[in-house]
Amino acid sequence: MPIAKVLLLVAHAPTRHELEHALQAAKFEVVQPPEGIWQAQGTSSVLSAEGIDLIIADPTGLATPTVAALLEKAPYLPVVLFATRVGTETLMQAVRHSVVEVLTPPVRYENLREVLRRALARQEVIRRWVLLEARRHTQELRLHLDELQTLLRVGRALTSELDLDTVLGTVVHAAVELTGAEESTLLLLDEASGELFLRASYDFKNGINTLRLKVEDTLAGSVVRSGQAVVLDQDTPEKIKTSYLVQSLIYVPLYIHGHIIGVLGVDNREQRAHFTQRDVARLTALAEYAAVALDNAQLFAAVNAERRKLETVLQNIKEGVLVLNAHGETVLVNNTARMVLEAPADRQLIGRNLVEICRNAEVEEGAQQALNGAEYHTEITLSDGRVFSMEAVPIPNVGVALTFYDITHFKELDRIKSEFVSAVSHDLRSPLTAILGYVDLLSRAGPLNPMQNHFIERVRLNVENITNLINDLLDLGRIEAGFDAEKTPLDISTILRYAIDGWQPRAQEKRQQLVLHLADNLPLILGHAVRLRQMLDNLIGNAVKYTPEGGLIEVIAESRGDQVIIRVRDNGPGIPPSEQPYIFNKFFRGSNVASEQSGTGLGLAIVKSIVENHHGRIWVDSEVGKGTTFTVVLPGLEEGSAGAIRHEEDTKEREP
Ligand code: ADP
Repeated sequence: MPIAKVLLLVAHAPTRHELEHALQAAKFEVVQPPEGIWQAQGTSSVLSAEGIDLIIADPTGLATPTVAALLEKAPYLPVVLFATRVGTETLMQAVRHSVVEVLTPPVRYENLREVLRRALARQEVIRRWVLLEARRHTQELRLHLDELQTLLRVGRALTSELDLDTVLGTVVHAAVELTGAEESTLLLLDEASGELFLRASYDFKNGINTLRLKVEDTLAGSVVRSGQAVVLDQDTPEKIKTSYLVQSLIYVPLYIHGHIIGVLGVDNREQRAHFTQRDVARLTALAEYAAVALDNAQLFAAVNAERRKLETVLQNIKEGVLVLNAHGETVLVNNTARMVLEAPADRQLIGRNLVEICRNAEVEEGAQQALNGAEYHTEITLSDGRVFSMEAVPIPNVGVALTFYDITHFKELDRIKSEFVSAVSHDLRSPLTAILGYVDLLSRAGPLNPMQNHFIERVRLNVENITNLINDLLDLGRIEAGFDAEKTPLDISTILRYAIDGWQPRAQEKRQQLVLHLADNLPLILGHAVRLRQMLDNLIGNAVKYTPEGGLIEVIAESRGDQVIIRVRDNGPGIPPSEQPYIFNKFFRGSNVASEQSGTGLGLAIVKSIVENHHGRIWVDSEVGKGTTFTVVLPGLEEGSAGAIRHEEDTKEREP
């Protein structure tokens, strides 16, 4: 046993020496501060608590800072008071420093040994207890730290994971790791049936993957019902789930946004181990992480499923869809659009600029127009002859969307229909001519009474109407088919004069004024004289026909740049705004004209076809009760770009 070191703080020198000798005789090592220093401030630096096992101090020594400093470092250091009389101050000091024994003079050797032995024994007990406590706390802290680290690790893994199965697997594994249980299960509530079903498990020995539990009468169900954790231990083994006994178990609820969505459980079947409240707290903490991660993963899975559904629909619809971002790069392209772009199936299109992946100028033009904010519609013909209607529209915050619709079938139908109409019309014309001929001959065959004459007149009128209709149909067919492609440079003034002259008699019959305002030096145009005359005849004819007696019809021709602008203006009935968009359609007849007015509804359709054949443009401005103006713009011979001027006309020239 090592020799104990005693610090002696006694002021009276003879007593000190006496004590020193007695201590040495009792086999103690005596430590004394250098003479005079022990009373001074700050002596604690000279003496260190480690080397000393016990302090003997008289009331003066007890009051020194040395004792206070040493006890601060080593609170369990036993202090023995050496005093003859103990005054109130000394007593208070003694209590403050937890003095354990008191020695009174005269010092007897036996007494000294006994007092010091008791003081040291007591110190040893305290020291051991402190050490033990410290070890216990350290161990507990370490456990706590491990637990926190595991939770942190699991939490990180969970919140960064979006795959539902991985999330569930991590949760059940962590549950076992945190609680030291044998197995873990995660049950989710099936909203449809209201039952709990096994969604994930770790080391679950039954291997029952289809485990389903009722909420009403099961232990796991009670967690759902009460929202509280359930703990069972080996004193209350209970048959749970379907067919097995557990020694101990914890179930905690899984909450998302205040609703219970399932139960997380751990259990021991073999080992007789208790679960503690601490295990419940750990599992509850894990359940909180798990619920957030589950929510995220479920949301992600739902969004993903929705996206995949949309993608499948989009990929497989008959319409082509191509979406470009604001830089013209592909962000979405479906199978049909890929085919319209005539891109190989294995070619990566996403992220590529349209100009790199598309050779079709119309598609590029459409995309460009839409990128500039304008809608664009056109028809495009693929190399295999298929025709698609293309629509390009700007999409705010995305870019542009181009849609393609296969109209090959309709085009073909239209062609067949036109051919049919053309053929039938042609075949009808000869018998009609014959009928007219015979009607004319009737009067020569002998005298006819007035009623017979009247009937013959009706026959002639009706046959003429049918003939006109057939002629219009045939013309339209021919114009649409582009049979009049041959054009020559011509002066429209001449055609205008002839047309006005032609209609003058009819206008005079209706006492209408038909006037021509012709500007000088109209540019020559490249055109088909017969068709241009037909266009003017239809427009002027309509004005004369629909304007009441005594009306005014003006035909104005002028030039703007290289273009010729022709206006046919009347002060007739006008066209209701709701009908204006349809008047150029085939067979459309307005509600503004009396039904007995003869007409086929084809006149303006023919006019429009002729104008378009000449790369021109036509529109109507009309006000009911005031009159109607048709404006035709035709590009002059020198005209390079009709489009640019068409645009200018649109914005500047249109009358209110
Ligand atoms: P139709 O004259 O044979 O009816 P059009 O195609 O020439 O056929 O004209 C279509 C419709 O446009 C007419 O039925 C009429 O309602 C309207 N319309 C055409 N020109 C005029 C006009 N100058 N004034 C008023 N309405 C007109």
